Amino acid sequence: MRLVDAHCHLESEHFSSDLDCIIGRARDAGIVKLITAAITPEQWERSRSLAERFSEVEYAMGIHPWYIDESYRADISSLSDAGVRGAVAIGEIGLDRKSEVVEFELQREFFERQLAIAREINLPVVIHCRGAFNELIVSLKRVGAPEPGGIIHSFSGSPELADELIRFGLSFSMGGTLTFRNSKKRAAVLARIYPGHFLLETDSPDIPPVQKHGEVNYPHYIRYNLDAAAEITGDSIDAVAENTTRNAARIFGLRI
Ligand SMILES: [Zn+2]
Repeated sequence: MRLVDAHCHLESEHFSSDLDCIIGRARDAGIVKLITAAITPEQWERSRSLAERFSEVEYAMGIHPWYIDESYRADISSLSDAGVRGAVAIGEIGLDRKSEVVEFELQREFFERQLAIAREINLPVVIHCRGAFNELIVSLKRVGAPEPGGIIHSFSGSPELADELIRFGLSFSMGGTLTFRNSKKRAAVLARIYPGHFLLETDSPDIPPVQKHGEVNYPHYIRYNLDAAAEITGDSIDAVAENTTRNAARIFGLRI
């Protein structure tokens, strides 16, 4: 079985002491690629060094909406080199109305500028979006989406919204929330996005599956998410693994 963890944060201090072991366990769980997403410019070098150190690791570079700082404005333009620096995507970028520590207009400015660069350099995007899907669509209409598309990670929207975002070439990754109490809405979303537009993620060290509630989340816990996705879609575990891995390879240009 081959799996891709389409979204995690290996830069996290939770992982700093133990990365060989963490990647080893991911490998044992069948993970062939992990896409780690930087959240601030300070992390970009760290993300790159992780991708150089582990053949399973690829990285996305960007500025997450929660961590935007005016002083990062100058860093945005250096994202034009992301492809040359070996990043496979621009991310984690996005919009968040549920956490407005950073004023929304500033979030929008940073999001649209990063989205525009992704388009220019033809890299997919890794998007965080909470409570701001209408605004996301406005930005996508204004700026456009990059040719290779991208993912909305930990997608929480409706099936109708999924349809609209698919028209921009976007796909959806889901993780620990798949294991939470089954909801009709989630099943309806999966029915819409699986198999062609669905990827698995862990978002580790955040959002552990329900079986590991309250603990640090690890990439190898992706197996819980896989099992849950198989149960919700009614497809076999092997087929879910194969489809999600194929989608990840297509979007991020992974050689696996
Ligand atoms: Zn994340």
